[in-house]
Amino acid sequence: MENVLFLAHTEPDGTLPKVALETLTAATEVAAALQAQLTIALIGGDVHTAANAVGAAGVLAVSGAEFAQPRYASDAAAAEALCRAANASIVIAPATSRLARVLPGVAHRLNGRVDTHITGLTVTDGAPVASRWFYRQRIEGSLQRTQRPWILLVESGCRPAWQGQAGSANLEKVEVALPQLRSKVTGIRAPKSDEQTIRPDAKLLFVAGAGWCKKQADGQVHATEAEQIILGFLRGSKASLGGSKSLVEQGGENQPTLRFMTHLNQVGQTGSTPRHPKGLSTCCHGEEPHVVGWRFITERRAVNLDPNCGWARGKADVLYVADAFAVMTKVNAMLAAKGAAAGD
Ligand SMILES: Cc1cc2nc3c(=O)[nH]c(=O)nc-3n(C[C@H](O)[C@H](O)[C@H](O)COP(=O)(O)OP(=O)(O)OC[C@H]3O[C@@H](n4cnc5c(N)ncnc54)[C@H](O)[C@@H]3O)c2cc1C
Repeated sequence: MENVLFLAHTEPDGTLPKVALETLTAATEVAAALQAQLTIALIGGDVHTAANAVGAAGVLAVSGAEFAQPRYASDAAAAEALCRAANASIVIAPATSRLARVLPGVAHRLNGRVDTHITGLTVTDGAPVASRWFYRQRIEGSLQRTQRPWILLVESGCRPAWQGQAGSANLEKVEVALPQLRSKVTGIRAPKSDEQTIRPDAKLLFVAGAGWCKKQADGQVHATEAEQIILGFLRGSKASLGGSKSLVEQGGENQPTLRFMTHLNQVGQTGSTPRHPKGLSTCCHGEEPHVVGWRFITERRAVNLDPNCGWARGKADVLYVADAFAVMTKVNAMLAAKGAAAGD
């Protein structure tokens, strides 16, 4: 009989990140299919709000000032203590950077196994089966293991966020013997919110390709105008910004580029694999290594001047053969009019 543990940490404001709620959906389904008990365990500074939000009667908790901030030593000790307290055989956790960093080490301490980048969880013949993609999302593999505990880090966007009644949780505090803490979090240095362009939870991924910094019909490069159009669109639509490898790398090659575009924006074979419901690619050719990162975008559209670009060969649901400068300027005007009508 399996003991399924859902393990998550809270955000600084005490809530659970969206990926944790999505993972809770997966954990609930797996526990039900296994007819196993599901235990919820939380790590954080103060986990009351999160515990009540998931409405669970009993929640195992490691909380306090030392657990408010991510730190390997304290997070690993907390996760290990929670797995032991629950006597967990299957541990299902969201693939946040905080947990992805510590859970492989925790698996080692528990003499268990860990699998990362999990995108699907099912139960076959009474045993859990995890799936993940290999070779940059080209091959899907299914895994089963006999070793326990088996820790699974679930990627974002794979299940709908858990929705249920909030309740009044009964917290069972688990004590942790902390090792000497040598790392101290003294603060967070983040870009100004104005410059934040990566929004994993956005409905739309807007991708800019190298075309934005290419010579246009008048023989000139219009990089500054491109920046204004793209930032205007991101502000108006709250979309997340992706970039093609070519555009992202131009910055290091002293070619005209978009100043807010970094390697963190790159999507594709050597970039990230986002999972937004919709994607709009502009001034990008739709080359295979770029498109492979779009595997899990549900609806894909592109704007390109070239009717024979890669998108036209079946890689986008809709291709607008048009000048992206003109299209996005018009879209921005429509967004501004909509915003003005809505009073913001
Ligand atoms: C091993 C390997 C790994 C790679 N990994 C990645 C990866 O992870 N991610 C990635 O993105 N790429 C990757 N690439 C590179 C990839 O193959 C492409 O070269 C790259 O994505 C193409 O970039 P692009 O479409 O932005 O630029 P280009 O190929 O230069 O295309 C620019 C496009 O803009 C259009 N255009 C120009 N002006 C306008 C306008 N006004 N309106 C509309 N359209 C306009 C042009 O018609 C053209 O199609 C990889 C390549 C290799 C070899």
